[in-house]
Amino acid sequence: MSLETLVPIPAIAPVAPFSPAEFDAYVVNSYARFPLTLERGDGCRVWDSEGRSYLDFVAGIATCTLGHAHPTMVEAVTRQIQKLHHVSNLFCIPEQGELAKWLVEHSCADRVFFCNSGAEANEGAIKLARKYAHTVLGIDTPIILTAHASFHGRTLATVTATGQPKYQKNFDPLVPGFHYVEYNDIASLEAAIAQLDQSKRQVAAIMLEALQGEGGVRPGDIAYFKRVRQLCDEKGILLILDEVQVGMGRTGHYWGYENLGIEPDIFTSAKGLGGGIPIGAMLCKSFCDIFQPGDHASTFGGNPFACGVALSVCQTLETEHLLTNVQQRGEQLRAGLRAIAHTYPNLVAEVRGWGLINGMVLTAETPVVAAEIVKAAIAEGLLLVPAGPQVVRFVPPLIVSAAEVEQALSALKRALTAIGVAA
Ligand SMILES: *Cc1c(COP(=O)(O)O)cnc(C)c1O
Repeated sequence: MSLETLVPIPAIAPVAPFSPAEFDAYVVNSYARFPLTLERGDGCRVWDSEGRSYLDFVAGIATCTLGHAHPTMVEAVTRQIQKLHHVSNLFCIPEQGELAKWLVEHSCADRVFFCNSGAEANEGAIKLARKYAHTVLGIDTPIILTAHASFHGRTLATVTATGQPKYQKNFDPLVPGFHYVEYNDIASLEAAIAQLDQSKRQVAAIMLEALQGEGGVRPGDIAYFKRVRQLCDEKGILLILDEVQVGMGRTGHYWGYENLGIEPDIFTSAKGLGGGIPIGAMLCKSFCDIFQPGDHASTFGGNPFACGVALSVCQTLETEHLLTNVQQRGEQLRAGLRAIAHTYPNLVAEVRGWGLINGMVLTAETPVVAAEIVKAAIAEGLLLVPAGPQVVRFVPPLIVSAAEVEQALSALKRALTAIGVAA
């Protein structure tokens, strides 16, 4: 631990200490956790239970859009909890209408359905696509194509959609109706469509990430996505984009698809939408009016609290000109990472990403795995998260400053020196 990362915190009410062993006695063991307890945050900084300070380049995994304790969010949370926090969709919710209006006015969508998470938003998209296939296209056994190395969530349908066997192992039988293709590979997609057409199991939708997040921060290829859009138009197939990780300004545009020059028929958002308050959304073109009362619902989805807070996040993207900040800080971060890659050619194969979702891809030859770099960075006061074994991911809050990007790059350099990787 270097001294400069030891910033004292002001006195706050102490939380009862919880040892990792005690924690495990009560909480289901489904996460691999760092032995680190975070207690407090302010902007792009968080403090642990020992009072150590860290620059947060994880941001709740691309979730804390405005960082921690942002005054606008504090105000919105306080206002909404005092006014009305939950009523049920049995009644009209003005905050839900306002948020839907903002999203429609700032995207290609015509309507929005609210839920609580990314997986749930994708479930909504899958259900909508299936209803469209049955009622509009007349397909009896609709197939949804998804990509290898994708990530769409942990519910049964979305873990089936996720093209990574490691997430599916021991959870079969999986949900029928999914088929996988190679990402950014048009030949693979065309072959799958032709093969399924022949077997009379027709493709109703193609679901892709604009940039694969969990799969290793792999940006979509523009020519590929333009051709996918064209194919969908020719064949009447729906294009669903999972924007759970890249939407809400993270790429320097409001939505990931803006980087690709196409528009989806359905897209989903969650992580950054509420700035850390649980909320998800499925956004769609007007054909979604095939959904009728009773077709889809969520108890908490779109409640006044979540929507009121998410609306404050959306408005802050505009008032603080955060898209420009994301573009500039992203350039700065990638330039710094590329300089590091230049110093360590045996370690770093590539730096890639859009805006403030970036990956440092390790070479196939290096014995170092991403998790080791993350661990060393944490010891230097920088929180990072891997995206698979070979990619170190950088997803700071969208309010990150130029000075904080420099501090993060310095901490990363110290971490690489500390683990002794050969230049
Ligand atoms: C995180 C993520 C999900 C799942 O979101 P949850 O809120 O954890 O259900 C789905 N798709 C993508 C692209 C994600 O990054």
